[in-house]
Amino acid sequence: MPLNARSRHKRTQRIAVTLLCGLVPLLLGAVILYMQAERTLKQSTKLTAEEAVHQFELMLDNTALAARELLPLAGQPCDDVKLALREQVTRRPFVRSTNLVWDNTLYCSSLFGDYQEKVNPGDYTKGQLWLMNGNPVTPNTALLVYRLSEGEKGALTTLDGYHLSNVLRLIGRKTLLLLQVGPNWLSADGKVHEGALPDLPVAETRLASTHHAFTVAAGFPKGETWRYMSSEYPPLFSLLIFFAMVSGTIGHILQKRSSSPSHEMQRALEAREFVPYFQPVVHGANKKWSGAEVLMRWNHPKEGLVRPDLFIPFAEHSGLIVPMTRSLMQQTAQLLSPIASSFDGPFHIGINITARHCKDLELVKDCRDFLEAFAPGAINLVLELTERELIEPTAITLQLFEQLHALGVMIAIDDFGTGHSSLGYLRQFNVDFLKIDQSFVAMIGGDALSRHILDTIIELSAKLDLGIVAEGVETEAQSDYLTAHGVNFLQGYLYGRPMPGAEFLNALSHH
Ligand code: C2E
Ligand code: CA
Ligand code: CA
Repeated sequence: MPLNARSRHKRTQRIAVTLLCGLVPLLLGAVILYMQAERTLKQSTKLTAEEAVHQFELMLDNTALAARELLPLAGQPCDDVKLALREQVTRRPFVRSTNLVWDNTLYCSSLFGDYQEKVNPGDYTKGQLWLMNGNPVTPNTALLVYRLSEGEKGALTTLDGYHLSNVLRLIGRKTLLLLQVGPNWLSADGKVHEGALPDLPVAETRLASTHHAFTVAAGFPKGETWRYMSSEYPPLFSLLIFFAMVSGTIGHILQKRSSSPSHEMQRALEAREFVPYFQPVVHGANKKWSGAEVLMRWNHPKEGLVRPDLFIPFAEHSGLIVPMTRSLMQQTAQLLSPIASSFDGPFHIGINITARHCKDLELVKDCRDFLEAFAPGAINLVLELTERELIEPTAITLQLFEQLHALGVMIAIDDFGTGHSSLGYLRQFNVDFLKIDQSFVAMIGGDALSRHILDTIIELSAKLDLGIVAEGVETEAQSDYLTAHGVNFLQGYLYGRPMPGAEFLNALSHH
């Protein structure tokens, strides 16, 4: 059903769209925050690497200065220069030992004095720096050796790895920071490793010194982006969840609005989906077609043909019944006016109206337009007002019915016998016909009491001098009974079911 019974499929679809409206901004926001966090971490590793390079350069500059001051002494006997070597160790904060070299042989050391050890320049990156994992005095303790040479002369000054790993620890803090010199690298725990630098999973930055032959790598361990987000972004996440909920709610409301009965019917009205079906009304005496009742159908694109009792209540409630009936009357006039000249005698056209139509005088104009589509006297327009819902005799309704009467429009009370209309009511609205409800017609052939009720209704209408239409005539027995009791007009499946316009025109031409 298009309006009151929504399928499980549609409900699932609505829930899915609502979830989507909420999840899309949530996911999009999360992605943006993730990218922002990555950017922030990258900036942080860049700054950390720059700071570390700067610190190492200061230390190495200091060590290089010691080497530069000692280099001119290379070649002199060790006894003459060892005090100068020790003085540099004492004066320079980061220098641990100083050594002099002649012809690639270390011959004098601040620690041992006279000493003999081959020096291989190939051990030094760019001939300048060697990161060692200790020496015979302090094995397994990082040591950075700075080499300066000029011809046969050479000076080696060493920097204690303790200072280097301290810098890695203090500047790094949460960042993983590594110092690479040629094939070796130093970690914050003071250990020297051999081989290529390991990959740092998050926000890795590598920065080479422009003064000395070393590189610093900074980065974060795996999962740091999420850890950072969960510690820094809780307020933003709350905001995101809030927006997602607002977006989901808006999506839900919009869907509800677009699928609300009145919205859907407005759409259908504009798409001209409400179409007239015609059910013939025959003369009691000769069974000739003397008119038709116009019955509304909704030609729904998905649901197919929809019965009026499923949507008329919604149309009445929203007030759309007025333009819908207007459209029905226009379509009826368009269909029947070309053949109106072939009618013998005025053809009755019954249109159903509701209490809603009686609130203003709009209906008068609609009826005038309808009548103007036909030659005068070709048709009788009969407005069918159900007895189930009585119209209040206000100033405006009385004026309405007066004007309708002046136009020559007739009034029928539909479903007569099911409501409580009084004689006064019938007179006040200038009623012309009573349509006996089909439940009474169905009583024919039943017990004596039922028949008695029907007979009373027929007698009453005869006394009031009103035309009678019997609805829901389905059998010959009913037809015979009603005709014998003087019912002027008959309507029911026995003579024809409600049918579309083209089919009705075709059938009409045969009667
Ligand atoms: P109604 O005005 O009493 O219309 C007669 C109903 O009885 C129609 O149902 C018709 O198809 C059905 N009917 C006709 N002959 C027989 C028969 O021999 N046996 C049986 N069992 N039924 C028969 P339908 O077309 O489904 O319309 C139902 C109701 O919807 C109508 O009752 C009327 O109250 C309302 N309706 C239909 N079209 C309109 C409209 O354009 N405007 C308004 N306001 N109400 C409408
Ligand atoms: Ca009717
Ligand atoms: Ca009826």
